[in-house]
Amino acid sequence: MYNGKFILRFEDTDPKIKRPSLIFYDSIRQDLKWLGCKVDEEYIQSDRLPIYYEYTERLIRDGNAYVCECPPEEFRKKTLAKEPCPCRILSAAENLERWKRMLSGGYSEGQAVVRVKTDLEHPNPAVRDWPALRVIDTKKYPHPRVGSKYIVWPLYNLAAGLDDHLMGMTHIIRGKEHYTNMVRQKYMYEYLGWKYPEAIHYGRLKITGAFLSKSKIVQGIKEGIYAGYDDPRLGTFAALRKRGITPEAIKKMIIDVGTKSNDVTLSWENLFSYNRKILDATSNRYFFVAGHAKITVKNIPKIFNAKLPLHPEKPEKGFRQYSITPIGDENASFFYVAEKDITNMETGKIIRLMELFNVKIEEKAGNWAGATFASESYEDVRKSKAQLIQWIPVGEEYPCSIIMPDASVTEGYAESACKKLKPDAIIQFERFGFVRINEADEKLVAYYAHK
Ligand SMILES: [Zn+2]
Repeated sequence: MYNGKFILRFEDTDPKIKRPSLIFYDSIRQDLKWLGCKVDEEYIQSDRLPIYYEYTERLIRDGNAYVCECPPEEFRKKTLAKEPCPCRILSAAENLERWKRMLSGGYSEGQAVVRVKTDLEHPNPAVRDWPALRVIDTKKYPHPRVGSKYIVWPLYNLAAGLDDHLMGMTHIIRGKEHYTNMVRQKYMYEYLGWKYPEAIHYGRLKITGAFLSKSKIVQGIKEGIYAGYDDPRLGTFAALRKRGITPEAIKKMIIDVGTKSNDVTLSWENLFSYNRKILDATSNRYFFVAGHAKITVKNIPKIFNAKLPLHPEKPEKGFRQYSITPIGDENASFFYVAEKDITNMETGKIIRLMELFNVKIEEKAGNWAGATFASESYEDVRKSKAQLIQWIPVGEEYPCSIIMPDASVTEGYAESACKKLKPDAIIQFERFGFVRINEADEKLVAYYAHK
């Protein structure tokens, strides 16, 4: 909209606690591509350590940063008392020496940290002399991309703060939990003579019932609780994609939510309703029956050629056609129907096989119902509000498994017209819900999106 550039930056400078994993670089690229976010430039911070070192040296040389050897607890006491630690008052030359020692492995983990000077009187103690770089034993915790090449690693505020300027960021739009980071980084910008970008801090976007905790997802996959990052129970983009949530729906929802400073809580239903609007207009309709229940209809007076539109408002999309030819002395025909519909049937009542004809239920036995032809016209049953159910002629069934949002599998039959579907197609199974086709081979495998 503003002719901006979209820069993808991988912030992977914690080889120990938030250890990056090689697979995520590519899955993040894939997710963005799927979302329609075209990347103009890409940077990986673990490639940029020499740049961070260069600016750190400049900050130390100018007396704006120092290498602190204090144990964390002692440093904390000092800052809370608004007093400098003994390292802060050393000369720049002495600190440069410590910095060289740090880079050459003279300190082990926890023995030294580079701090950027701020106002020791700052009302927020967390702002006072914030940590900028620390030592990580990469022999023990090698970085997945650069191994043990570096032992001094930048923390968020140094790396992101420098990069925002060096990459020409004009606007920082991020969660409000980063507000204090802006306050911290502004000291560094002043020392370097840079102008801080426009910063907008928005509230957290929460989705009720969503499973978004990264560490829990990783743990669950390790333990085999989840099939992978695209397990339908997860709130990952990979999972949403697999279920048939469209990138357009996500984009519309995010734009509508905007960058409010208060927290926003949404439910999955909010996202689904955006998605439903998009899919409803475009998706082809088909029949699916859950379970393996059957109905026998007798006394069918003639051959019926059912012509079912692929989309009720878009005749140009075409039709599926099934010929119902009654056989035997009883002029009978056989259909698969949803098990749930059999359960709800009452003997003596009339129901309508959608777009086909009306039948009267005569008897029921377990998974089966016997019926007789009643009449053809929908008008006959409109007033009595007869149940309209989907059906599949026996012989036209296509075995189908649907993976539900809770990862359970609903088995049943899709109509044979579905054999033409290709993976990734998103369709609506009438009276069941929208699904995304995952495999269309000997059987159809689909993921359930929503009603
Ligand atoms: Zn110190």
